[in-house]
Amino acid sequence: MATDYHRFLFVFVDGIGLVPAAPSNPLSETPSAELFALLGGPLTIEQTQSAEGVLLKPIDATLGVDGLPQSATGQTALLTGVNAPLRLGRHITGFPGPRLRKIVEESSILLHASRRGHSSTFANAYTEQYLRRLEDGSVRRSVTTCAVQAAAVPFRTLADLERGRAVTWDIEGDLAADRAGVPIERVDSVVAGRRLAKLANSHRLTLFETFLPDTVGHGRTALPAAEVVRRLDGLLGGILGARRADTTVILTSDHGNFEDNRTRTHSRAPVPLLVVGPAARHFSEVESILEVTPELLGLLGPRV
Ligand SMILES: [Zn+2]
Repeated sequence: MATDYHRFLFVFVDGIGLVPAAPSNPLSETPSAELFALLGGPLTIEQTQSAEGVLLKPIDATLGVDGLPQSATGQTALLTGVNAPLRLGRHITGFPGPRLRKIVEESSILLHASRRGHSSTFANAYTEQYLRRLEDGSVRRSVTTCAVQAAAVPFRTLADLERGRAVTWDIEGDLAADRAGVPIERVDSVVAGRRLAKLANSHRLTLFETFLPDTVGHGRTALPAAEVVRRLDGLLGGILGARRADTTVILTSDHGNFEDNRTRTHSRAPVPLLVVGPAARHFSEVESILEVTPELLGLLGPRV
């Protein structure tokens, strides 16, 4: 029964494709102990598998539209199940415009979950300064920000972070501190993962977003690719070590980028769909980023 699937932790990782191991693929060129323990190898297409409780498969992010998949349309597609690039006629980069925002505000996974009476939360920590700018409209809103606002899910703050109840977009906090210009205590990626697992314990749906691989893939953030892999691996290890048995963890992306260090642009590579937990097998038929949200919502079930 769908009600067996109590909790979902949705880890959205911006800009990571699932391709073969190669010298150009940082995911296979960096030790990743937690991924190895889980999958028998790095986060590459060779580890595609569907076992009881663990699913890894490549899923399409191009959605039948020419050109390189981009964040605004890809994230909208992933978090709503609406084929946003097809509807708008192209892949749209960066922040969503009015048409995409409308789709997100009317159809996001967070809104649907809350309308069905399920408690959901967004785990990312925001600075007070950002939240003030959000209120006065002086900051461009990302897809997730639009989704969170429209679903009336409270934003977490640096005070939540200090209490161990939030995680910054860069997982460990140092880059978030630099970017925001405020002091943020460094958090080890394993501890960050444990925090996400703990948040997932008290909600039906917990969403976390990291755009670290995308920004490093573009060369916009000076962090070695190996460090990105270390953080992702640590985060996953922390989550899996602390997750309750009834929590299903879903890790996926909006488009490729980081998996090929020969270019600084996005790629048309498939993205990983990694699902760990009791609901994993239900995602085995998912073929594109459009189908993740509808599947998850179906498993959350109607109002309880
Ligand atoms: Zn990008």
